[in-house]
Amino acid sequence: MMGTDIAVYLWSDDQLTGIQAVDAVFAEVQRIDELMSTYKPASLISRINKDAADGPVAAGGELFGLLERSLDISILTLGAFDISYDSVGQHYDFRERAKPLEAVIERELSSIGYRLVVLDKTNQTVAFAKKGVRINLGGIAKGYAVERCVEILRQHGIENAIVTAGGDSRLLGDRRGKPWIVGVKDPRDENRVAIRIPLENEAISTSGDYERFFDEDGIRYHHIIQPTTGRPVIGVHSATIVGPDAVITDALSTSVFVMGVDRGLRLIATLPDYEGMVIDASGQLFYSDGLQPPENNAATPEPPE
Ligand code: ADP
Ligand code: MG
Repeated sequence: MMGTDIAVYLWSDDQLTGIQAVDAVFAEVQRIDELMSTYKPASLISRINKDAADGPVAAGGELFGLLERSLDISILTLGAFDISYDSVGQHYDFRERAKPLEAVIERELSSIGYRLVVLDKTNQTVAFAKKGVRINLGGIAKGYAVERCVEILRQHGIENAIVTAGGDSRLLGDRRGKPWIVGVKDPRDENRVAIRIPLENEAISTSGDYERFFDEDGIRYHHIIQPTTGRPVIGVHSATIVGPDAVITDALSTSVFVMGVDRGLRLIATLPDYEGMVIDASGQLFYSDGLQPPENNAATPEPPE
């Protein structure tokens, strides 16, 4: 679902409660996907993309709220995070190994810019300031989904769980007395773990250039787009963010990937609740101050727990 694998692990003393909670989680992901997927022509986001250049479109409270948060993160990251990346991004198809012609990038680049996405808080509408703008919540919607799912698990009385949507995980409580151990993949060897991080009650998101990509002429074309160029970001293999809110860790992992090691980790240093780790294009690991490199961070062949 949502273009990735969704997983939920939980403890419940009552089997039926556990099963119902799992069912509710998948129903919620399905609901969010139907609202926010640009691949579904009937989704609200698709309607916005079709009509918002002609005038304001009602977004509804939930989607409007996530659009607001997306634009807030654009401001925080000085435009590194930009949901209008899709104005160019829509022309990449990683499965089909397709990329836009130079002329197409040049034409569509002027439609990337979060300021072109105009929100009206009173009426909860969204309008685009020009034709050609297209938005996509791929960099934040999975974080939102796992955050929502954990809230639903709480409502079912669950106290220990982990919900994962691709590179985004949200942990509820601990692993019954021990921290959850989350492994961050080695970006160039999917059977290896670059680092294991013990976590409780937190979210962790990783953005990588190895999830959706193709290689051509020595260049890796992948799904994280530099808004200033309309081309895949160069210089980083993966960015991982840990913090209390999966919506933020998801958007920030994409942002820090775009900003690169120096600017990205400097931003994270200004956010007291968030920590980050970046693996650059030479495979070197860089951490924010609060993430202590463990003694044994050499890649080990075991899968993540
Ligand atoms: P994943 O989808 O693998 O979890 P991310 O959280 O980094 O990885 O999200 C990548 C997705 O974010 C892309 O597939 C695309 O939908 C979207 N995206 C790409 N570039 C940007 C950007 N500069 N700003 C916001 N979203 C982006
Ligand atoms: Mg992300």
